[in-house]
Amino acid sequence: MRAEIIAVGSELLTPYRLDTNSLFLTDELHQLGVRVVHKAIVGDTPDEMLSSFRHALDRADVIVSSGGLGPTDDDRTRWTVAELLGRKLRTDDDVLRKIQERFRRFGRTMPEINARQALIIEGATILPNPRGTAPGQWVESNGHIVILLPGVPHELRALFEAEVKPRLSKLGSAQRLFTRDLRICGLFESAVEQLVSPLYAMYPDVETTILATARGIELHPQIWCSDPVRAGQILDEMVERMSLALGENLVSTRGEALEEIIAQLLTENRATIAVAESCTGGLLAERLTKVPGSSAYFLGGVVCYSNEMKSALVGVPPEMIQSKGAVSEEVARALADGIRKRAGATFGLGVTGIAGPGGGTPEKPAGLVHIALADEHAVREKKFQLPGDRELIRNFATLNALDMVRRYFLYPAHGKS
Ligand code: AMP
Ligand code: MG
Repeated sequence: MRAEIIAVGSELLTPYRLDTNSLFLTDELHQLGVRVVHKAIVGDTPDEMLSSFRHALDRADVIVSSGGLGPTDDDRTRWTVAELLGRKLRTDDDVLRKIQERFRRFGRTMPEINARQALIIEGATILPNPRGTAPGQWVESNGHIVILLPGVPHELRALFEAEVKPRLSKLGSAQRLFTRDLRICGLFESAVEQLVSPLYAMYPDVETTILATARGIELHPQIWCSDPVRAGQILDEMVERMSLALGENLVSTRGEALEEIIAQLLTENRATIAVAESCTGGLLAERLTKVPGSSAYFLGGVVCYSNEMKSALVGVPPEMIQSKGAVSEEVARALADGIRKRAGATFGLGVTGIAGPGGGTPEKPAGLVHIALADEHAVREKKFQLPGDRELIRNFATLNALDMVRRYFLYPAHGKS
């Protein structure tokens, strides 16, 4: 079964509101074996809505709409679908009573316009909405199913769960979507693509999407299959080959975030960490403390933005900052080692860089970041020239700092203690 999702609402065509309902619906439909082949976002304009629904009927078996079921003039979904299918709208007395009751419960009388929410398309099944006034509607016509859902996200979700899911699961095909979620760090998107794309021809049934995010690159191989065991085998085999191609740049294969991997590594090794960060302004500590149970390995951090704070709180020699500059290999090393010693941690992580857009020079342009990781034996340092705007540079710096910890455990200098 092929589905199209239509998100109705003029507010979704402004810069202020994002259509999130379709993300939820896509996930749910795929789990039910209904493949989303198209999504549309349309304003509350009758002509545009008609055209959207008409096109959807051309290409999908199931159409799920969200929004436009409110009581006001711009809520046109019922009329649109009724007109398109050549059906009448009738007031359902039972639904109307429930809406009136709902208002009474809140100590109000129902405004006349809310009666519109009791208008049901001829032949439709009413999907009760326990969380709001507008019920959903399930309409079957010429082999198509049109499902009208309210726009308010929590209402839509509850209604989908209670009313739509059980009905669709009876109809859905035996095929389900199976996916894997690989996280990669240390390569650009194009390099990842180049490394894994020869595998696409080997697994023609698997469709792989690649995503570049501020948290690294993600690869999502996915396959529609009626046999979970077979799907698992194919994906496992392909992921295994992807792992070989990606080598040490591969962070995880089951969607674990970098900070979760680090949490595991530090916990397993009974190691602790402290951070001294400049250009990341606390982002590093934020990521490290995001994981529940982080108190087992994260001792604390210092955001030392000024030179004085770098010296006073982490012990970076003022002469070093004077002669080498605050953004330098030496200062990164001193931050890492200084915070490690002051916190009494296994590891110290130091970050200093130029987040931009100002503050750069030809020798030290915006995006230059030095990151150092100290253990009790040695300090490793890496220099990065990061692309993007201030926000991206700060995020990439955080990412690379965390990744240095992960990579440490690939090649521990002195073995595990
Ligand atoms: P409606 O059912 O059209 O009256 O929508 C009610 C409210 O739900 C809107 O004002 C939005 O705040 C929200 N909403 C509608 N559609 C969506 C959507 N596709 N994604 C997220 N929120 C939505
Ligand atoms: Mg609306």
